[in-house]
Amino acid sequence: MSDINWNDYSLETQAIRAGHKRTHEDEHSMPIFTTSSYVFKSAEEASLRFTGQKPGNIYSRFTNPTVNAFQERLALMEKGERCLAFASGMAAIMAVGMGLLKTGDHIVCSRSVFGNTVIMFQNYFSKFGIETDFVDLIDAAAWEAAIKPNTRFLFLETPSNPLTEIADISLLADIAHAHDCLLIVDNCFCTPVLQRPFELGADIVIHSATKYIDGQGRCVGGAVIASDEIIEKFIYPYLRTGGATMSPFNAWVFLSGLETLAVRMKAHCDNAFELALWLEQQPSVAKVHYPGLPSHAQHELAKRQQSHFGGIVSFELVGGKEQAWKVIDATQMISITANLGDVKTTITHPATTTHGRLTPEARAIAGIKDGLVRISVGLESITDIKNDLLKGLSS
Ligand SMILES: *Cc1c(COP(=O)(O)O)cnc(C)c1O
Repeated sequence: MSDINWNDYSLETQAIRAGHKRTHEDEHSMPIFTTSSYVFKSAEEASLRFTGQKPGNIYSRFTNPTVNAFQERLALMEKGERCLAFASGMAAIMAVGMGLLKTGDHIVCSRSVFGNTVIMFQNYFSKFGIETDFVDLIDAAAWEAAIKPNTRFLFLETPSNPLTEIADISLLADIAHAHDCLLIVDNCFCTPVLQRPFELGADIVIHSATKYIDGQGRCVGGAVIASDEIIEKFIYPYLRTGGATMSPFNAWVFLSGLETLAVRMKAHCDNAFELALWLEQQPSVAKVHYPGLPSHAQHELAKRQQSHFGGIVSFELVGGKEQAWKVIDATQMISITANLGDVKTTITHPATTTHGRLTPEARAIAGIKDGLVRISVGLESITDIKNDLLKGLSS
């Protein structure tokens, strides 16, 4: 098994088999290595491992076999060179900033990224003299205009949350590279099953493994995938020192999550597509946001860039906030929670939860209307999902 070159295999196979190096116990399934440290055969071997002259485990803050297996598997699936796992998606984003940036640097970031990413750049990196400009995700000219001589990277998520707007990754990679910047893509919504940013020119891919990679809402974790050079020079030294490490148990859960990711993503997409079509026909629904619908402004781009359209659907109710809350409160099965990427369908009202801290003006710029509802479509029967929503939609 150890001499297989997993690069020759397809994603579905890598997801199930890559990364596990069978031990002398001949186990079939990946074990959890719950050990903080490792022993060396001699003082000399300890010294060689610490200086990196000899490969091998040292200490589980930065070397653990279960975590390594997860890293190898995800790197292969993303078609990236190397992956490092972190304690959470936010810890992964923090690591990219800590590794790559210094005082006086500048970031250009999509306005519609995960709320804590905005807070990280705006409230924390700014304390160390790093400035961020936020731009409209789909306005390529605005991205280019925001770049300055000290810009280090462009940062985005596509599709965006909750409006599912799609950025042209190839175009933005070209713009970034023309100005000597890196393009960083948070690929949490699509996962490598639906979209592979490296094939489109991105330099760094971020994951919150908490979402679809786990897929069943159990563990928090994250990852950074990049070239050997970027990882070795900028990210690994920070992980080793900063210590926001993924636990072996969580890595083990995420490894089994990856094994079913391809079939789950397909099923999420199929359910979401059917729900989006159905919602478009409901008289109380003013607009449905889903990249799979021909009515979606970047439908053609989504078809080119993604292999399927994703599991997130949002829609605007004619009756505004009052009706949005009514639809949410009328559900009996669907979970009212802001988490996403779970086999369980979840529903949330962005204007008063995930985007509730924004001013009304900022919410208007972001296009988050009071009547907007976001659904992370799970894997229950689509008939039951529709029936649960119909209670509030038809009242
Ligand atoms: C949840 C999320 C994050 C943060 O990940 P955590 O694992 O919760 O720290 C980052 N980006 C996106 C797109 C997310 O949905």
